[in-house]
Amino acid sequence: MTRWIRLGIASSCGNCSKPLPVDATVLEFARRPWAVIRCVACAGEEPPDSVDPPVRTSTKLRIDFNDRIDAMRGGRDWKHAQAGER
Ligand SMILES: [Zn+2]
Repeated sequence: MTRWIRLGIASSCGNCSKPLPVDATVLEFARRPWAVIRCVACAGEEPPDSVDPPVRTSTKLRIDFNDRIDAMRGGRDWKHAQAGER
């Protein structure tokens, strides 16, 4: 499946390695397990007049360390567990 997309992150053409900035219009070939992109020159066809804006995803990880520690402890205090308490 091929479709024209606008880049959400800077990348490069998979054919000629030309650097492509954010919001560049590229042709995407969706192939499992990943997709490859081609610049307009390498695509061999003209892009449509309007291409949907890129989907921007956050790269920030949100970790609540208290939740992680509780999950590792299983909700029990290790001192109580050693004493045999439930
Ligand atoms: Zn190219």
